[in-house]
Amino acid sequence: METTLAPSKEKKELIRRIERSSGTEISRCYQCGKCSAGCPASSGMDYTPRQVIRLLQLEMVDEALRAGSIWLCATCEICTTRCPRGVDVASLMDALRREAWRRGMITDRRVAVFNDVFLKSVARFGRVFEAGLLLEYNLKTGQLFKDTELGLPMLQRGKMHPLPTIIRGHNAVRQICDRVQRMEAEERCE
Ligand code: SF4
Ligand code: SF4
Repeated sequence: METTLAPSKEKKELIRRIERSSGTEISRCYQCGKCSAGCPASSGMDYTPRQVIRLLQLEMVDEALRAGSIWLCATCEICTTRCPRGVDVASLMDALRREAWRRGMITDRRVAVFNDVFLKSVARFGRVFEAGLLLEYNLKTGQLFKDTELGLPMLQRGKMHPLPTIIRGHNAVRQICDRVQRMEAEERCE
């Protein structure tokens, strides 16, 4: 269930937690915009990376957690590389995603469905089974024929396999997934 934040103290604590989790200091940003200028996804974002940081500087953490931008971020790290102040913007986006997920503050349900289906596929097979992912995602989001015009040619040309393949180290991947789930459960109890 979605949680809303009480003013001030709770917001400050949450911002500190996001800073700790991302290993970066929000106050270091002097709003030059180099991160946004290099971001390949910023044209589709409701808030550019620079603006997301500004929201946090202004303690508008609800807005930052609800921003569609954090789910569009591809973690390409261009922003982090370009920042003259050493702000790890990509990690910050990642920390915001984790926090939004934890608090049920995901504005688009399809994001949650995709995340769930993708991770289950990786945990099961050791890598993502694309055809299965496509099918399950479409079924769960009620858009049965979405992207079939792309999926079918890919299957025909052997770019995507109709059956899953299990990688050799899938047990190790499974253990990693289990460990991450335990860590997340512990974090929720903090
Ligand atoms: S590049 Fe760095 S200093 Fe400039 S706006 Fe982005 S985060 Fe802030
Ligand atoms: S890591 Fe995210 S915010 Fe940074 S440049 Fe890449 S897509 Fe944009």
